[in-house]
Amino acid sequence: MNINVIGIDIGGTNLRGAVVDSKGKILKKYSLSSEANVGIDNLINNLIDLINNLRADFKITGIGIGIPGILDSKKGIITQAPNIKNAANYPIIKVLNSRIKPRLPLVIENDANCAAFGEYKFGAGLGFKTLIMITLGTGVGGGIILNGEIWNGAHGMGGEIGHIKIYPDGNKCNCGNRGCLESYSSLVGIKNMIKKGLTENKINKKLLEKIKSTKHDKLPELFYEEAKSGNSFSKRLWEEFGKALGIGISSLTNLLNVEIVVIGGGIANAWQMFIPSTKKAVKENTLIGPYQKLKISKSKLKNDAGILGAASLILPEK
Ligand SMILES: [Zn+2]
Repeated sequence: MNINVIGIDIGGTNLRGAVVDSKGKILKKYSLSSEANVGIDNLINNLIDLINNLRADFKITGIGIGIPGILDSKKGIITQAPNIKNAANYPIIKVLNSRIKPRLPLVIENDANCAAFGEYKFGAGLGFKTLIMITLGTGVGGGIILNGEIWNGAHGMGGEIGHIKIYPDGNKCNCGNRGCLESYSSLVGIKNMIKKGLTENKINKKLLEKIKSTKHDKLPELFYEEAKSGNSFSKRLWEEFGKALGIGISSLTNLLNVEIVVIGGGIANAWQMFIPSTKKAVKENTLIGPYQKLKISKSKLKNDAGILGAASLILPEK
């Protein structure tokens, strides 16, 4: 019998979903604005529209939803979600159960964990049992899979890879601490390096003009192109970005001895610019045993990792 489920990825801007079969094949996709910044009620209305659209032509057996925030998955509650307005302590499963007709089994999971689970089930992590996924975007997201299960800590707050310490007394992080991975290997990190470059007078006039006329979320692409054409500040920026990532991966590897680290997120597109210094730092800082067994790979599922991971949560074990 064909089993089809719905996987949903809730983002700060977009709400993306798909009908997925038991082999991880996407049969239909749909997306709309999430309006998460307007409020949780708008988000729920959009979520219902998305689900109704996706289930119209398919027999669906369940829905998995990836949510950006700290959740109590068992109780079906969003504990804390800074990118969704008024979502603190929100009983999302209870609300959805009362709105989805006919009712379907529902599960929720943190979005970064979903992406890691997607890569584990259907992507770069296929065939491995232990995996870490690092998502490079505005910040640094992380998901840990141990023996085929998501590890998110005793209270659902674990796997915060973006906030492991890279440099004590380093850059100030949004979390209030200093020297976190996120303050180097992310869009936030790139902005920190621009600031530093400006105070140290390392950015020439031509590059500064380009930085000023570039939208923030396009800065990684700008520095990718600049590094490719030999600009020394841009090359240095990616070296620093990659080195911090490598130091972070070495701490995780020394601690967990995972088989594979998968790197995804929009900035992973600059792979060839940062990965040499990442690999160098991993080699220099990881114990020889776990280092020799470690594989570092680029995400295979890209934007679909979250959707496929959320769908996998509700697919029956083979
Ligand atoms: Zn931090």
